[in-house]
Amino acid sequence: MGYRDIIERIYSELKDYKGVGEVAGYIPALSAANPDSYGITVATLEGDLISIGDTSDKFTIQSISKVFTFTMVVRLLGEKIWDHVGREPSGNAFNSLIQLELEKGIPRNPFINAGALVVTDKLIDLYENPLESILKEVNDLNCHKSNIEFDNAVALSEIEHSYRNLALVNFIKSYGNIKNDPHKIIETYSYQCSISMNAKELASSFLFLANGGVLPECGKKICEPRSAKRINALMLTCGLYNESGDFAYRVGLPGKSGVGGGVVAVIPGRLAIAVYSPELNANGNSVRGIETLERFTTYLGESVF
Ligand code: GLU
Repeated sequence: MGYRDIIERIYSELKDYKGVGEVAGYIPALSAANPDSYGITVATLEGDLISIGDTSDKFTIQSISKVFTFTMVVRLLGEKIWDHVGREPSGNAFNSLIQLELEKGIPRNPFINAGALVVTDKLIDLYENPLESILKEVNDLNCHKSNIEFDNAVALSEIEHSYRNLALVNFIKSYGNIKNDPHKIIETYSYQCSISMNAKELASSFLFLANGGVLPECGKKICEPRSAKRINALMLTCGLYNESGDFAYRVGLPGKSGVGGGVVAVIPGRLAIAVYSPELNANGNSVRGIETLERFTTYLGESVF
């Protein structure tokens, strides 16, 4: 079966799979999402973009942005990032405070909120205009095929309700592992989370990780092959918060999710696949998104294992 047949089959199997989770509401603006939206895009290294469903619907990528900001920081800081953040799965919720005290302000990994906030602190040090640089990065990743922007309403809604993330930043700062002003970090982080994409753009923007750090369409080098390998390893072990083990077990691919309802995964050497479906499970991951990816690797008969 080709990719199109596979995603058509999955779409018809799962298009009525609704009411199985909740749209995120802790950032009020996210609750405006249509719970029924469902779209799948496969982007291949050969340049094919195969889509079905609501793949033109825009959604905020939320935690998926952590992969992009981590890539930007590692590009300039290299291995020194590991003085500030770990690389082990956390086994705790994405916005948990529990481990931080035990581990003296060094977050477990860059893909939970605590770790991503440390990465954003470094981004502010390294880039003169961090928000402009983030937008440039995501538009570069999409080979400038469309204009990717922030969703201002979602960013402002998150900033207004960022009690927990602000607590995380202040707590980490008390251990000396954050340099910049906590409010500046929350503002930058909330804007990076509000990057608005559709499934086609999301799949395309992960192709560099399927291709050793180089964008296959426009040839731009985003990172070293070694970094691409490492970012994939981090996604495999930490990309879905406290559900990362289950995702590796069921799907068998490096992936990253966001509370906006997007989830993306990579088959190195072949493709990236993005799914949008905003109903989330209790871990903050798209229920139908994960189910889709599980069926995708099952029907394809391939994963990284
Ligand atoms: N902006 C969200 C937050 O910090 C991102 C979380 C997520 O997508 O999992 O709460």
